[in-house]
Amino acid sequence: MKKLIVRAALLSGAVIALNPAFANHSWGGYHWAGDGSELPIKVNTAITSQWNSSVGTSISDWNSSNELALSSQTSSRDPKKCSPIAGQVLVCNSAYGKRGWLGIASIWLTSGHISQATTKLNDSYHNSAPYNQPEWRALVACQEVGHDFGLDHQDETFDNPNLGTCMDYTNSPLGPPANTHPNSHDYQELNLIYDHDDGFTTATASTNFGIRQVGKAPPREEAAIGDSPAEWGRAIHADGQGRPDVFVKDLGAGRKVLTHVFWAIGKGPNNG
Ligand SMILES: [Zn+2]
Ligand SMILES: [Zn+2]
Repeated sequence: MKKLIVRAALLSGAVIALNPAFANHSWGGYHWAGDGSELPIKVNTAITSQWNSSVGTSISDWNSSNELALSSQTSSRDPKKCSPIAGQVLVCNSAYGKRGWLGIASIWLTSGHISQATTKLNDSYHNSAPYNQPEWRALVACQEVGHDFGLDHQDETFDNPNLGTCMDYTNSPLGPPANTHPNSHDYQELNLIYDHDDGFTTATASTNFGIRQVGKAPPREEAAIGDSPAEWGRAIHADGQGRPDVFVKDLGAGRKVLTHVFWAIGKGPNNG
């Protein structure tokens, strides 16, 4: 969807100055490289029916951003592994084990730009209460897919009032307000991080892919991210309860993978 209002907001330094939180909820500024117009990104799904509604809704919610032109298609990839697809997003669900986490999102960076991303939704928790409820599936699916585009949380305290966005950690997804969809601030963040021309793109669904990426090899297909924290690399950030929730693993040659973790209530890396 096309941008109209956005440029005025971006040109107005006052918006940012008056609202210091404005620019702080992107995930390190990480984004898919593109030309600053609506970026076509393919979102592949290797999911079973209990996730159709929440994942489908999250894709259409994020597609409402005037920076993203998402297309979704089902994938035959093994959801248990969820091996990333170069230049695309892959969303999977499986019983990944009682490892404490409800969902993880991983982004692979090539020369600083996202070149592939995955979301894993953990049925080992989501198959039973309370996480088998639509609001929990919506919160986690929406948040993990949001991370795949480079968004961060707006709030990381679990027991304060909801902000009305899935990018807000909560123990009560229904609120009110409900944290089951993005809010306008998330779309503003996407505008801030995507509204520039990189001169090439890392999204294979874009017609510019490979054409304008002068002097840069196309993203290679990386290995899948594992299911235990030991496989995610070094912890670089903790959530409101002190649990490490962002990890980075250096893959060499300017490549790295970052993983965002959504821990279950009362669970953590040492307590599944
Ligand atoms: Zn860029
Ligand atoms: Zn998260």
